[in-house]
Amino acid sequence: MMTVVFTVYFFLIGMLVTSFTNVVGLRVPVGESIVRPRSHCPNCGHVLGPLELTPVIGYLVLRGKCRTCQLPISIKYPALELLGGILYAYAFYQFGWSMQFILSILLTSLLSILVMSDLAYMLIPNKILLFFLPISLIVRYLSPLENWYNPIIGGFVGFFLLFVIFLASRQGMGAGDVKLFGVLGIFLGPLHVVIALFVSAFVGSIIGLGLLGFKRVERKQPIPFVPSIAVGTLLTYYFADDWVKLYLDLFL
Ligand SMILES: [Zn+2]
Repeated sequence: MMTVVFTVYFFLIGMLVTSFTNVVGLRVPVGESIVRPRSHCPNCGHVLGPLELTPVIGYLVLRGKCRTCQLPISIKYPALELLGGILYAYAFYQFGWSMQFILSILLTSLLSILVMSDLAYMLIPNKILLFFLPISLIVRYLSPLENWYNPIIGGFVGFFLLFVIFLASRQGMGAGDVKLFGVLGIFLGPLHVVIALFVSAFVGSIIGLGLLGFKRVERKQPIPFVPSIAVGTLLTYYFADDWVKLYLDLFL
């Protein structure tokens, strides 16, 4: 019973935190403060009140438009907030009160910030990675560990794997992706960070083909890759052990 109560609680917390990480993802890449000015309509400057700031509910109450000037509000914001809520709830449901839970919501929020910033500016800000790098290491070392070297080796594997691809591809892959996979390697460890790369590339190609198919993008137009990385990373984080086990059962 208490598990249900806390799962719902962390669903709400996840939506609140994600409405904050949306602001971080929009403001940090362009050098703006994350506390001032208060959230406002980019068109008419109308400052959002408490109800309008409420995750998801605000969007529904406003029916997706600014109260003053009717400028449409992007569906990205409530969609990410809802997803953040679901992921926080799922992390608690999976791990309960544990460092593993803290690690999971940390990963979720890192990815939410970067998805927002990538969708808005096609950028992965160094500031965000440098902020999460030491925290991820500390929380990883406070969590149950397979062995002491997995987070560190994971970071190096993620970084250098992407660095080689970066050199080979010349374009399509940004330096930000290389550094991001370094940080993801700390969260995932060396085996899972490699799996995460393959899953991300797979998700990315499906999204790319989908967008081309629906004529939402032109061929050659760069598509933000971080949303695919986020999906690939979280799928790997939660399910890769099951995949590896299934694979071993089937083939060995
Ligand atoms: Zn407005």
